Amino acid sequence: MITLALKFLLACVVGMMFGIPVNMLISLFLKKLGNEKYAYCGACKKEPKWYERCSVPSFLLLKGRCRSCGAKANKRFLLVELLNGLLYGIVFMANGIHVQSLLFCLMTSAFLVISFVDENTLEIPMPCNLFLGGIGILMCVMDLTSIKSRILGFLIIGAALYTLYALSKGAAIGGGDVKLMAAMGLILGWKKVILAFLLGCVIGSVCHVIRMRVSKAERVLAMGPYLCIGSFLCALWGDAMINWYLGLLVR
Ligand SMILES: [Zn+2]
Repeated sequence: MITLALKFLLACVVGMMFGIPVNMLISLFLKKLGNEKYAYCGACKKEPKWYERCSVPSFLLLKGRCRSCGAKANKRFLLVELLNGLLYGIVFMANGIHVQSLLFCLMTSAFLVISFVDENTLEIPMPCNLFLGGIGILMCVMDLTSIKSRILGFLIIGAALYTLYALSKGAAIGGGDVKLMAAMGLILGWKKVILAFLLGCVIGSVCHVIRMRVSKAERVLAMGPYLCIGSFLCALWGDAMINWYLGLLVR
């Protein structure tokens, strides 16, 4: 039990360290896409020094304020590091100590970049989708028995969503979302990627209705974060969910 907790904590700490480059990537893409929320400090726009990059101690020491001008710092930096840590911990707990878990951790970090950038700009950076596609190809090579299902996943979800994108002229789904799910087809295989898409749509619809009520959010829905949540759940528990559902049908 203690070793289990230690493993979880270790994965969390490593994940928080990896959160630093994740934050830098989010800032880079937000700045490139002309979004104002890229900076650590919205007031003076000063970038933190390298030793201030680690947000958790920085936030505790400076009480969440910018060291240069004293304005409130962007909370995203702290949130991303904590999330990246927590999610790495969950990946290792759910998937065990395994090379695949390392790839899932990298996938999770890409999900965080995609979610924060898409939420603010309604665009998914192409390099993130290419990165996920690369992870998918690596997984194909590592496990040749699953290669058919992975390629089928890429083709089925890619073709279906591209048709939806073309027919609706981008109103029903964005081009970035299509590429994201096609890449996820390679990572998850055909069954789990379909489930990931459906889960993402359900979670997205529910969250969006709540957010529109609570904060009067705009009607435009960034799908990326929800597709990432669906994909994350299916990467870790997709097989269990599908088996449970099939068990219900057989009974
Ligand atoms: Zn400042």
